Amino acid sequence: MHNGSFYNGPMDNRAVSDRSAVRYHRLQLVLGVAGLALDAVVLGALAWMGGAHAMADVARRATSMWWIEVAAVAVGVGAASAVVGFPLAWLRGYHLPRQYGLLHQPIGAWLLDRAKAAALGGAFALVTVEVIYLLLRTSALWWLIAAAIVWGLSVVVATVFPVVIVPLFYRLTPLGDADLRARLLALAARAGVPAMDVFVVDHSRKSRTANAALAGIGRTRRIILFDTLVRDFTASEIEAVLAHELAHQVHRDLWRGLAAQAVITVASFWIAHQVLRATAAPLGLVTIADPAGLPWLALVIGAVGILALPVMNGLSRHMERQADDFAFRFADPEAFIGAMERLASINLAERRPSRLKEVLLHSHPALDRRIARARAAATRLECSSGRAVRLDPG
Ligand SMILES: [Zn+2]
Repeated sequence: MHNGSFYNGPMDNRAVSDRSAVRYHRLQLVLGVAGLALDAVVLGALAWMGGAHAMADVARRATSMWWIEVAAVAVGVGAASAVVGFPLAWLRGYHLPRQYGLLHQPIGAWLLDRAKAAALGGAFALVTVEVIYLLLRTSALWWLIAAAIVWGLSVVVATVFPVVIVPLFYRLTPLGDADLRARLLALAARAGVPAMDVFVVDHSRKSRTANAALAGIGRTRRIILFDTLVRDFTASEIEAVLAHELAHQVHRDLWRGLAAQAVITVASFWIAHQVLRATAAPLGLVTIADPAGLPWLALVIGAVGILALPVMNGLSRHMERQADDFAFRFADPEAFIGAMERLASINLAERRPSRLKEVLLHSHPALDRRIARARAAATRLECSSGRAVRLDPG
């Protein structure tokens, strides 16, 4: 049940929620940086203090097959960082979101979701590592081929994920509200992204955050709404959220993001190649294809990825601004503002992060900036039509 919370409430409630949002995001930032540092320490220690060598030696005594040796080191490294990182992951992903009322999933279900994600991600990572070491053993251009394959896999994940993976975590049901369904399908057609159907995912089981998405292409394209969105937002606000998501389709933002990802992937593998060659001897590696170098390889590629994050975030914020502008044309900017305010309160958004934090870490423009842009669009609309913007009763 939607209780309106502090969205329409008195100002002091809003101030309280802003303060707790600031505290929540500060804690998450500190713990996030601590988590990265811990990851780096684990990988660095395994690479430089003999852990990975020990794992490789154990495997080598049991088998002469190189790929089993690679698998042994990969599983050992993955398990070590998962175990060491678990307390922080629990704090960031479960304890804090629950304390701040963002998550109400019971611990058992949360652990099960994490186990499923770890099994999927682990299997995926293991296959990737095996392919990389096969290339390391056989080709001087291993870094280029590996980057191409890793990028190809990320394309598959990005396109297949919503269709195949999401049902493993959620139940999808067709939207019951026929009026809303017709309105949303009409909006999608108007925006040039015709969809076949509207589905609702049972997200409220896990948390109260709200969103919409599009999945599939052509005849399989469907609109997916979080049940939280259907329950707590007016029809016009849902239209505004959907219009933003439709813009990502029209602008082919998935592919723009993947193109940038391609450049960064090639760069990070090339840098990893140079670093591996330069450090093979001090690391005690027989060749650069020695599996004992795996944690070091992971650390270097991960570090380049983090350094590239501000660039990716900059591109993302640019695309998000364009998507907002598109939404103002196909939906009511006032409803967009309403939706943003609701999202801010239920997602405990940071309305005004520091400019530096926004530039480095945020994939979306700050909420207050998005609302100001919508307000400007609403004013322009009012001026050009010479009358007040029609406001749906919702
Ligand atoms: Zn977006």
